[in-house]
Amino acid sequence: MKIQFLGAAGEVTGSRHSVEVLLAGKPRRFMVDYGMFQGGREATNKNLEPLPFSPKALEFVVLTHAHIDHSGLLPRLCAQGFSGPIYCTKATFELLKILLLDSAHLQRADVERAERKQKAGKWRGELPVALYSREEVEKTLTQLEPLDYGESTGLIPGVQLEFRNAGHILGSAIAVLDIQEDGAALKRCIFSGDIGMRGKVLMPDPDVIQNADVVVVESTYGDRMHRSLKDTEDELVGVIDSTMTAGGNIVMPAFAVGRTQEILFLLIDLVRRGRLPHLSIWVDSPMATAATHLTQHFFAQLDGQSQATFEWFKKNPGAVDLRFIADVEESKALNKIKGGAIIISASGMCDAGRIVHHLASNLPRAQNAIVITGFQAYGSLGRRLVDKVQKVRLFGEEVAVKASIHTIGGLSAHADQAGLLDWLRGFEQEPKTVFVVHGEPESSSVFAEAIREELQWSNVIIPERLHTYSC
Ligand SMILES: [Zn+2]
Repeated sequence: MKIQFLGAAGEVTGSRHSVEVLLAGKPRRFMVDYGMFQGGREATNKNLEPLPFSPKALEFVVLTHAHIDHSGLLPRLCAQGFSGPIYCTKATFELLKILLLDSAHLQRADVERAERKQKAGKWRGELPVALYSREEVEKTLTQLEPLDYGESTGLIPGVQLEFRNAGHILGSAIAVLDIQEDGAALKRCIFSGDIGMRGKVLMPDPDVIQNADVVVVESTYGDRMHRSLKDTEDELVGVIDSTMTAGGNIVMPAFAVGRTQEILFLLIDLVRRGRLPHLSIWVDSPMATAATHLTQHFFAQLDGQSQATFEWFKKNPGAVDLRFIADVEESKALNKIKGGAIIISASGMCDAGRIVHHLASNLPRAQNAIVITGFQAYGSLGRRLVDKVQKVRLFGEEVAVKASIHTIGGLSAHADQAGLLDWLRGFEQEPKTVFVVHGEPESSSVFAEAIREELQWSNVIIPERLHTYSC
């Protein structure tokens, strides 16, 4: 078996792993995830680069979850001639309908906005590129094959797939692949996808898998520990109290799928427990609104505490003034609110979408607070805010950063180092090979070293992008 890492090697976005196996005398190739690179011009170039093999030669794609950095280039793959099935869980199937269409829409809007600015002589630098159209997304959706968790499915003779719960976002899965190659023993190959934090809001704990020959594991936070949920709550309550007292707004950039729902459930739960007073919350992202409805639809897949919070809010709807913004005019009207509002909007790394407008209107005022709750990739606008830049360029114009910037790490949808090691401890025997992916270089190397030291596993590899490994 050969695995080639086309992305998420030495970085956190662009998860795309090609697996080549020898079955009945023929090499057969499939992909696990087909994600978009995110964060600046370099990412765009990688998204545009041709595959090292023909898309038509791929048998199928296994998708761990709906986040764009794992799914976002699928329409491009299908447009380039891939016509096989894309396997995912049922909730992922529903989320992709929202996420991929939104991705096509955002790309088109970015191009059109840049072209208008260029015509008016107000755009500097290169124009953005749309990677695919709405029509190409619609064709891709017809290729999705939804499966249940725990349902073992033969994909082609010699390859069996079972999805287990990764506890990261709605529908997120660990892909368990049993592969019977010519003349070889049965091999179990596990792709972790993104592993959730134990005891986090909304999702259940990740499933433990007992055995594997090959493990491909994420390492987003492989070099650090998250704050406890208690500390995170204290910090969040502190920022909200002080900003509301100062008469400012709170702007929270949040991934529309997953993070927005976690924040909502946490804020409502803090009100339920009397830690926060009545709140006015605006969720300004059509995609987040749709994902919140889906979260209610898949209520049975949520953890116990979130189910209880949701039931409480249904009985006490006046406790939080929660509004979902649909149209653009309403969204722009939020710019007139000078204080007392919590605005949750996407994209999570601040690079596109309505959040950019909210930052443009709220960054210049010192009484406002920007609360960052998610990972900010190198090169993204969110990362520059975390790095305390004094000014940023939005829509081709300079904006001063006067608002306070707060990073609240404990809400992460990703396990920290201890969480990842705990998940690996579930394997009863040392896997023959462990690949550490989906982390910035420092994070992956610290985590690989932790696996060698704490678990005493010997064959731990940090793959290089585009390199092929036999295992
Ligand atoms: Zn993810």
